[in-house]
Amino acid sequence: MTQPRAQKIPLQAGRTLRLVLGDQLSDDLSSLTDVDPATDLVLMAEVMAEASYVRHHKQKLVLISSAMRQFADRLRARGVPVRYVRLDDSANSHSLEGELRRALAEAGLFERAVVTEPGEWRLAEVFGALQETLDPPLEIRPDRRFIASHRTFAQWAEGKRELTMEFFYRQMRRQTDLLMQDGKPAGERWNFDAENRKRLPPGIARPQRLRFPPNDATRAVMAEVAERFPDNFGTLEGFDWPTNHAEADAALDHFIGQILPNFGDWQDAMAKADAYLWHGLISSAINIGLLDPLEVCRRGEAEWKAGRVPLNAAEGFIRQIIGWREYVRGIYWLKGPDYKHTNALAADRTLPWFYWSGETDMACVADVVSETREHAYAHHIQRLMVTGNLAMLLGVHPDQINDWYMVVFIDAFEWVELPNTHGMATFADGGIVGSKPYAASGAYIDKMSDYCKACRYDVKQKLGDDACPFNALYWDFLDRNAKRLRDNHRLAFPYKTLERMEPAQRAALRAKATETRERLGAVKLAP
Ligand SMILES: Cc1cc2nc3c(=O)[nH]c(=O)nc-3n(C[C@H](O)[C@H](O)[C@H](O)COP(=O)(O)OP(=O)(O)OC[C@H]3O[C@@H](n4cnc5c(N)ncnc54)[C@H](O)[C@@H]3O)c2cc1C
Ligand code: SF4
Repeated sequence: MTQPRAQKIPLQAGRTLRLVLGDQLSDDLSSLTDVDPATDLVLMAEVMAEASYVRHHKQKLVLISSAMRQFADRLRARGVPVRYVRLDDSANSHSLEGELRRALAEAGLFERAVVTEPGEWRLAEVFGALQETLDPPLEIRPDRRFIASHRTFAQWAEGKRELTMEFFYRQMRRQTDLLMQDGKPAGERWNFDAENRKRLPPGIARPQRLRFPPNDATRAVMAEVAERFPDNFGTLEGFDWPTNHAEADAALDHFIGQILPNFGDWQDAMAKADAYLWHGLISSAINIGLLDPLEVCRRGEAEWKAGRVPLNAAEGFIRQIIGWREYVRGIYWLKGPDYKHTNALAADRTLPWFYWSGETDMACVADVVSETREHAYAHHIQRLMVTGNLAMLLGVHPDQINDWYMVVFIDAFEWVELPNTHGMATFADGGIVGSKPYAASGAYIDKMSDYCKACRYDVKQKLGDDACPFNALYWDFLDRNAKRLRDNHRLAFPYKTLERMEPAQRAALRAKATETRERLGAVKLAP
């Protein structure tokens, strides 16, 4: 669709062009706080550069375009003029820079252009360069939707040998006063994680989740995505994510009222064909600006104060947001654009094809990939301990793992994806995010899920045709990386067990791991 050409508007004092990105759909966005509907223009653009810098899951493409279009309507309903460029606009330059320049050339004279800082280095570099070259100048404002500013995080990190999330989280608790009583943590403990590792009791009734059938805007985008991106990963049919503020609010109400009370207990549990369990399903809405993270936490705290949610659930939930979410964002910006190029464990293999196809006889992996294809979602422990753990044990190169995580999830944005994948899940950053690799054998998956019962492999066996692949790979991982990891005191116990094994058994595990890597399709990359 071609944008109607605006009349040249003469320069009015302060007239501002305001660029709003696809993950900035918040009413109180810093680039919109001083918008003057009488003079200003908001620019929103669907461009190929953003739709294709990774081959996003089809549902993520739908979510972002649909939510952008609905946010543009929301602004217009407030009287704010919006120039909205669709992907199929014949004059679309297909880059954000191109659309900024085109709007400046076509939509009248502006005294300044404004954008809220983007969420990743790739765009920060583009906008950083435009600050110098754009006429009128581009003003980049901080993203105040986060609780810790870049400066707060850098000051906290300054001079520390280890950047332990738990200590950062305590600072965030004090700063926000969430779950604090007379300057002390509620319940006299900062962290109730030890109570949040239960496995699901057999036969427990699972909650019904509130989902959102596609509305008109979403259906229109679904048709466009089906036509333009037929080969991207994932199905479209089951799309049921919240795509606007009203739906996101309803999702939050439902979660806080019905699900949060049990969030803590089974936070780490996994179940076949049910990735949702008692999780929030709100990361995509928070990440694109439909929900405010602090407000979400205050809602959780209010339920605890009202006695409707136990402390272990409220604390566990709030820690994910003001702790982990803020922490990974801090790490991403602190460590700079080179963070993703580290490869501390010298991993050098390809990602097996079944990460895309789901065609594997490992029941746990097949289930996580199939849920991810259908819903663009897997919960934290599935991402960490099934797909992340396996990729690390196989020795898959970090670039291939990071690419997969960016592609497959509805909530994937580099600032949050990368430290989780590169740091927490695969230890490719050498221990900045995690103090040890989250490596585990099949026993962990068996303890926390019902996968192994229905698997063709035997989770108890390490060797032989029926042995669970995770087992030999786990011991071989420790063996191969002994030089790098042996002195890590958190790994002292497994290393003692490894060292007590007979040399013949260690050799057999190494041989089994080599055979498993090749059989699963994790082959050495060409040097
Ligand atoms: C390898 C790996 C990759 C990940 N990639 C992403 C990603 O691309 N985008 C993303 O938003 N999250 C990512 N996470 C974190 C986490 O898995 C998701 O935020 C969570 O599964 C989202 O689902 P939910 O809303 O149901 O979360 P819940 O389990 O209900 O948690 C509540 C909220 O806490 C926040 N949260 C929880 N854990 C984390 C975390 N480790 N880091 C940041 N925020 C967290 C999210 O906002 C989430 O909505 C990743 C985790 C791992 C291990
Ligand atoms: S036996 Fe091993 S491969 Fe099979 S489901 Fe259990 S952990 Fe996964």
